[in-house]
Amino acid sequence: MLYDALPDRHVRCNLCGRRCMINEGKSGLCLARVNEKGVLFTQSYARSCSASIDPIEKKPLFHFNPGARVFSVASPFCNFFCSFCDNWIISQQRRLTDTKELTPTSLVNAAQRLGCQGISYTYTEPTVFYEWAYDSAKLAHEKGLFNTFVTNGYLTPEAVKTISPYLDATTVDFKGGGDPVFYRDQMRVPQVEPIYECLMELKHCGIHLEITNLLVPKYGDSMTHLRDLAIWICENLGEETPFHLLRFFPNYELIDVPQTPVSTVEEARKIAIDAGLRYVYAGNIPDHPWENTYCPKCHELLIERHGFNIRKWAITSDKTCPKCRTKVAITGGHY
Ligand code: SF4
Repeated sequence: MLYDALPDRHVRCNLCGRRCMINEGKSGLCLARVNEKGVLFTQSYARSCSASIDPIEKKPLFHFNPGARVFSVASPFCNFFCSFCDNWIISQQRRLTDTKELTPTSLVNAAQRLGCQGISYTYTEPTVFYEWAYDSAKLAHEKGLFNTFVTNGYLTPEAVKTISPYLDATTVDFKGGGDPVFYRDQMRVPQVEPIYECLMELKHCGIHLEITNLLVPKYGDSMTHLRDLAIWICENLGEETPFHLLRFFPNYELIDVPQTPVSTVEEARKIAIDAGLRYVYAGNIPDHPWENTYCPKCHELLIERHGFNIRKWAITSDKTCPKCRTKVAITGGHY
């Protein structure tokens, strides 16, 4: 899907912001897509390398169908090359061995059989298994399930628009506050502008959005970039957009960097709140008070969490604060 056939059997892939020009017999940068005689094929269709039931809070999606169970799937390959990837075994080794066939019909049937309310395309990067996600999402909607992407936000606007009738919620993951130098040096991503174009299209299509930002000590914990990102979200996506500030743990090639101090996450949260965002969370710090949702007006505790579990739910049935009656930005039901 979404490629241009060019003269001399060249193609241009328009799925992600890299927009690879691919010669005959070659693959795009993600290795998932191959030009065979001027036709662009995906190698990863229905090839599952990971499948699991997750609480929706793990995505993280805190304001979309809270408490729901989502059947989470992935295929190998990625269009980013993060030196600190949590899932590098499936995203960066980029091979189809250790996968199992999982057709859209089997995937949707499994999600229903396992009591999930939705499907999440996650763990690696759904952009590079777009066709499998598209067909599955379409079928899932027919069966009454919702669909969510967890993505690096490098989908092109046309890729967002094409899947938008079937995509209900998206978590877009930033790292290092969106610092272009961090993206270039630690993720081999030459420009960050496509992420903002993707976000604007997701917003335009009315898809529920939550944003994360990974704070990486030394390389990606600039509070200046964090502030700029929070202001951009506030001005362009809205002050009610949930923003999750994630603690980093050493992994893959970036093992000489310590975990993010809790105080750094707390400082970042204060900056994001001061920038105008109303729902800002501390992530990867179980039992921290900023895992909870508070009323943005009177600060009443509305949802108490422990990790990915909801311990207490105090929002009224018409989604307001029980104390001051301020509307709480929750999409969907509470499971
Ligand atoms: S999805 Fe893969 S082939 Fe297509 S533009 Fe992105 S990196 Fe290149």
